[in-house]
Amino acid sequence: MIEREQIEMDVVFVGAGPANLAAALHLKKSIAEHDELVERGALVGKKVGDIEIGIVEKGPYVGAHILSGAVMDPIAIRELMPDFLEQGCPVDTVVTEDAAWYMTDKKAVEAPITPPPLKNKGKYIISLSKMCEWLGEKCEEAGINIFPEFPAAEVLYDDNDRVVGIRTGDKGIDKDGKPKGNFEPGVDLLAKVTVLGEGSRGSLAKQLTARLGLKQDSEEQVYSLGVKELWEIPAGNFAEGRVVHTLGFPSDTDTYGGGWIYGMKNNVISIGYVTGLDYKDPMIDPHAEFQKFKTHPKIAEILKGGKMLKYGAKSINTGGYYTMPKLYADGVLIVGDSGSFLNGQRIKGIHTAMKSGMLAAETIISAFAHEDFSTKTLKSYEAKVNQSWIYDELHPVRNFHAAFQKGRWSALINTGLQFATGGLAWGVMPKEHGIPGYERMQHLNDRNGNSDPTRYADLKFDKESIFDKITDVYHAGVAHDEDQPSHLHVLDTEICATRCAEEYANPCQRFCPAAVYEMEFNEKRNRKELKVNFSNCVHCKTCDIADPYQIINWVTPEGGGGPDYKGM
Ligand SMILES: Cc1cc2nc3c(=O)[nH]c(=O)nc-3n(C[C@H](O)[C@H](O)[C@H](O)COP(=O)(O)OP(=O)(O)OC[C@H]3O[C@@H](n4cnc5c(N)ncnc54)[C@H](O)[C@@H]3O)c2cc1C
Repeated sequence: MIEREQIEMDVVFVGAGPANLAAALHLKKSIAEHDELVERGALVGKKVGDIEIGIVEKGPYVGAHILSGAVMDPIAIRELMPDFLEQGCPVDTVVTEDAAWYMTDKKAVEAPITPPPLKNKGKYIISLSKMCEWLGEKCEEAGINIFPEFPAAEVLYDDNDRVVGIRTGDKGIDKDGKPKGNFEPGVDLLAKVTVLGEGSRGSLAKQLTARLGLKQDSEEQVYSLGVKELWEIPAGNFAEGRVVHTLGFPSDTDTYGGGWIYGMKNNVISIGYVTGLDYKDPMIDPHAEFQKFKTHPKIAEILKGGKMLKYGAKSINTGGYYTMPKLYADGVLIVGDSGSFLNGQRIKGIHTAMKSGMLAAETIISAFAHEDFSTKTLKSYEAKVNQSWIYDELHPVRNFHAAFQKGRWSALINTGLQFATGGLAWGVMPKEHGIPGYERMQHLNDRNGNSDPTRYADLKFDKESIFDKITDVYHAGVAHDEDQPSHLHVLDTEICATRCAEEYANPCQRFCPAAVYEMEFNEKRNRKELKVNFSNCVHCKTCDIADPYQIINWVTPEGGGGPDYKGM
């Protein structure tokens, strides 16, 4: 039995992303306001006082594991901090120009009018990693404790399944699971309220929703994978402040996908490609889709003479309003991407993540004021969400992703109809999202020869503009101590060597954007078997999401391990 230190806090936030950083800051500020009102007699109730607030983050510093596009809608940060620009919020550029391109194999046809959801003039192009670093500093200045290199590995419950905090991961365990000389057991951080803001496919949120049945009344989540590079390009190739979104090449019409190019300061561009993780063809490789995107003549022209600076990949929960889990239970709230707050139509989740955190903070204040941390008080969080602009924004686009179920053309008609009717759509009337993405992947035999094993045969990984996964992973700055147990738990590797090889030709080798999964020939057994290069992992969670047998479980590795997305 390992003896663990117990630290009592009042509120513990899991994950230092925009959702929780905004939540913690808003909590601190609102407590002061609340207590002043009570003091003056303007509000009936108890003062909250000086409470202990902690944020645990698995990355080595705040921002290290943050990857986004990103064009930020400033609506939430303005509410959090009206003078955010004066206070030095590191926004890169104001959007001055936007466009939507439909890509055929050779041409990019610009839409005469940018569709309203993709209008971004006046919004900010940012590095979300930089912004989170800055928000982290603001939190520390406000007296909030931040613990980087502390992954939350488990949710702690009492005998009545009330959440009472989290256990952080052990440090110093070798690859065989034995303690090393530097072994440090994880700590139990006990809290009256725990807030999960782990981003897309949170590992604790996954445990919690399964244990407490929080997904019972909502639709299956659907995810996409965003693959991104930062490039420095010659002056004049793409204007600062310009934002382009694309549809079409190289995605086939059955697959949800699209690209982006954002012009930043100093001739840097953010370029990337999103592929829906509900694709049917097991031969699809989202990293290769992005590389192919860059071979398009219009894109190649922009990149010509440039240099890739950084790489990253991360999943995005694109399911929207109907896929939100129940957002509260005794002692716990779920915010940001973990709670499915992203607007898939606008590909924006920063502002909704921040606002969800702020509403969670207001809920926590009333829980302290009433000294009640059960669902009785915490359920008001859901009502707050539904009375806020989050509902006004997400409800009309509730069918957006579902509209893509029948392919791109039906989706375009449907999206138009949804726009005109406030969200209703033909063929995908409310709550028809159906099955999870991994169940859509078809067996190779069922595709009647429609899978194309030569899909990427023309891709030449020249390492100048087109990169293989290993080169890209190098540019993600990934580091994990190799003498630790793999954090990618494959529950039955026999399936990989047999059924999966036959049915899907081991799609993990393709859907992972970091070359973690490899089928290697085992001479003794005369067959290919799975090798897991866990140290390459960029924490995108795609394997946990897209594996058709759901036998890959992503858990947190030793604290500090993972990508380094500084400036991404
Ligand atoms: C490629 C891409 C492009 C995007 N483009 C845009 C855009 O242009 N505009 C926009 O508004 N949105 C965009 N988004 C979405 C946006 O980035 C997210 O909606 C937003 O970051 C969600 O914030 P969050 O705080 O919920 O989670 P995240 O930003 O994912 O932050 C979660 C944090 O929690 C940490 N964490 C996770 N699990 C644990 C654990 N168990 N223990 C400790 N720490 C943990 C992570 O390391 C991370 O730091 C994009 C997303 C992607 C992937």
